[in-house]
Amino acid sequence: MSTALNIYDPSAKAEAGPSSLAGLTRAQMRDAMISAGVEDRKAKMRAEQAWRWIYHHGARDFDMMTNIAKDQRSVLAEQFTLDRPEIVERLVSVDGTRKYLIRLAPGVECETVFIPDVGRAGALCVSSQVGCTLNCTFCHTGTQPLVRNLTAQEIAAQVMAARDDLEEWPTSNENRQITNIVFMGMGEPLYNLDAVSDAIDIISDGDGMAIGRRRMTVSTSGVVPKIKELGERTNAMLAISLHATNDDLRDVLVPLNKKYPIVELMEAIKSYPSLGNSNRVTFEYVMLKGVNDTPAEARALVKLLKGIPSKINLIPFNPWPNSPYECSDWETIETFAEIVNRAGYASPIRTPRGRDIFAACGQLRSESKKLKASERRALQNNG
Ligand code: SAH
Ligand code: SF4
Repeated sequence: MSTALNIYDPSAKAEAGPSSLAGLTRAQMRDAMISAGVEDRKAKMRAEQAWRWIYHHGARDFDMMTNIAKDQRSVLAEQFTLDRPEIVERLVSVDGTRKYLIRLAPGVECETVFIPDVGRAGALCVSSQVGCTLNCTFCHTGTQPLVRNLTAQEIAAQVMAARDDLEEWPTSNENRQITNIVFMGMGEPLYNLDAVSDAIDIISDGDGMAIGRRRMTVSTSGVVPKIKELGERTNAMLAISLHATNDDLRDVLVPLNKKYPIVELMEAIKSYPSLGNSNRVTFEYVMLKGVNDTPAEARALVKLLKGIPSKINLIPFNPWPNSPYECSDWETIETFAEIVNRAGYASPIRTPRGRDIFAACGQLRSESKKLKASERRALQNNG
């Protein structure tokens, strides 16, 4: 955890004013009630009531909480807020994709992208870190040094902020716009597994936002020692950013491969709990012109995945300023897809979404930098 200020950390209250209840885990919500003076034996029930108002109804005002006595509501309102992090910029693409720049704390911003017409209705792509410690050479986020891990609250709050914008409250079982969550925004989720796992608990809770665990996909560049644990703790779907079929090339594209080579990665994937035909691993493969896109590589991919229930997402490379690669030609991508497809794997070519607003895969990057404590204080004092 970096030293960056977190205004959503209840312990940071004295420094940053009342903290928000929006985005807390069940246990944190109960602790918050106790700190607001609710007796221990009543705290659980009070927390459950608040939980439903916050995560089912999307309450932004304590006065909505009509099953909590008025005087208790005012005590809560004195000590807490129901604020979400601020959406400081909102861009809407010609294809309906929405990109939000979300300010989590002074000088700490992440991007969240809503992509309509994915899954049952639409997917929200959330960030787990600001920046990334890894430097995949085709990824824009990789050029932004890690500022810090996000808290579970900040991850859950991205979903809440997007649902505010899409007017998706209260939670309904019909006509939802956000049906799926993908951890494919900024950062490496498996380097922040505690927060990701708590966030998944919050987002999937049936008494709140109720987005099923099977509708959540966590994408990793291959943090081998954490893969099995991810499945055990979250029950989420697994996606692996593969991009190459041999270590020499993967070492260049995904430098983490030098630490965890392909053989070890494949072994870890096989250990993912409840893998099967209805629970396939998604392999992401970015199509880079003249780098990894030959028919021979398509065949090597098929061979590599033998025995693993998988689907393969071919992602046309999305360029960003001064990126060192080009996207493969359409024909090349189709030939590649056909080889994989003929071998019996679903191999959809992912249509680039929101390229015009730099919201597509790998184009996310915020201007946030890791600041010294003195710089942070100055920023905070200036609002
Ligand atoms: N760090 C995690 C999750 C975020 S990246 C991971 O690497 O899996 C989400 C996906 O976008 C990954 O598959 C990543 O490899 C891919 N990606 C990154 N840069 C891209 C680019 N410029 N064009 C297309 N896909 C890209
Ligand atoms: Fe980080 Fe994923 Fe980008 Fe690699 S592809 S730099 S792991 S965000």
